[in-house]
Amino acid sequence: MSQNPVLRRCVSCKKVIDRNQLFKVTRDHQDGVVLTGGMGRSAYICTNETCLKDAWRRKRLQKALKCQVQYNVIEVLQDQLNQSNDSGSKAR
Ligand SMILES: [Zn+2]
Repeated sequence: MSQNPVLRRCVSCKKVIDRNQLFKVTRDHQDGVVLTGGMGRSAYICTNETCLKDAWRRKRLQKALKCQVQYNVIEVLQDQLNQSNDSGSKAR
């Protein structure tokens, strides 16, 4: 199955890269800001600490989603980042 990569823009550094290499943050109509699933406006962000921190400092997620974003969203993403770094070296 040949599939073209889905490209999305990081809200922090504005680079356009493969969606699979980005974190997705969605503002769900009912649940508010969620990191998996959800229906509504979405923002994408690179899976690196610089972009996460920068996005937080410049309120990129808030602006992209047009709503308040709690800092724990960033913390959860940083957590995932650390985990994927750990398993990444083993997986390949
Ligand atoms: Zn980025």
